[in-house]
Amino acid sequence: MIPAPRPVLDTVPLYVPKPPVARADGTSHRLFLNENPYPPLPSVLEEVSRAALVAHHYPEIMPGDLVAALAQRLGVPESDVVTGPGTVGIYQQIAQAMLDPGDEVVYAWPSFEAYPIVARIAAARAVEVPLRDGVHDLEAMAARVSPRTRAVFLCDPNNPTGTAVRQADVEAFLAAVPPSVLVVLDEAYREFSRGPGAVDGVELYRRHPNVLVLRTFSKAYGLAGLRVGYGVAHPVLSAALRKCAVPCGVNGIAVRAALASLRVEDELFARVDGIVRDRDALREALVGRGIAVLPSETNFLWLPLGQRAGHVAATLEAAGLMARLYPGEGIRLTVGTPEANARVVTALEDALVRA
Ligand SMILES: *Cc1c(COP(=O)(O)O)cnc(C)c1O
Repeated sequence: MIPAPRPVLDTVPLYVPKPPVARADGTSHRLFLNENPYPPLPSVLEEVSRAALVAHHYPEIMPGDLVAALAQRLGVPESDVVTGPGTVGIYQQIAQAMLDPGDEVVYAWPSFEAYPIVARIAAARAVEVPLRDGVHDLEAMAARVSPRTRAVFLCDPNNPTGTAVRQADVEAFLAAVPPSVLVVLDEAYREFSRGPGAVDGVELYRRHPNVLVLRTFSKAYGLAGLRVGYGVAHPVLSAALRKCAVPCGVNGIAVRAALASLRVEDELFARVDGIVRDRDALREALVGRGIAVLPSETNFLWLPLGQRAGHVAATLEAAGLMARLYPGEGIRLTVGTPEANARVVTALEDALVRA
């Protein structure tokens, strides 16, 4: 007889999306995880090597220097900042700190794939509200909030569609939702957002004590491999999240790299500006060839290809372009280096225009 895992885990898929296959000669481009195409800056790498010299020491239980630096950078009290091994680590803390079995969690769909997993592991009920034309339908989401709703997850800009809502729309949403409902604002891509009226979660958190903002060093700062993300929330919420954190969950190398990245933020953000320009140019090139691409405020593009998605993903893969396939729905393509983006245009032209 084998010890039985919690029955609720039967509803959690052992979900490993099939990654695209890389070419054996190393000429493939990784465009399926929304990674930054550029490696860490030299000054960041230097800190990484220095931190590795003391890898035999435990890091702090909570990284005090990083919390202090983030608090100063954002103009918020240190008590309100929480860190975790990536934003996904903080989602686990949210599940443990905030969700009881039977609670409802409202989120849009399609959105970040962690949401259904977080909800199900907590034995909460996932209430999925369809996007409208690829965009969060905040009115429909507010309408689905019930007395059983414990939390709402808002991904802005949204993964996988790349679309964003406006600050005024989130304000209206917050006005329509009881203040007892936790509203998690996932801003993993906010540094790539350029639209007027773009959402600023930290600004919202200052006026709404039920808002928890999540940000990450994985995308704009290019540290996905080191696993460090952070949240900002009212001290009652941040204290609860800290209680549920894995002690020493953010390792010392990640802490030093994140601190070094904050010091060279100007340089990193100049790189982000380049990615944003490349994104807009790539979308224009594709749209100019008659290929449908949603407007994007992120470092990736969404192609709503429906049933053609599988065929197109296979064509891209054969061309050494590793995209993320959503079977029957579309393809999500990370904006890569200019070389990768040029190959994307050619490959999609072959697959969709000349075919
Ligand atoms: C990439 C991403 C994150 C970041 O996850 P980390 O665990 O911080 O690497 C968070 N939310 C969304 C929607 C993402 O796409």
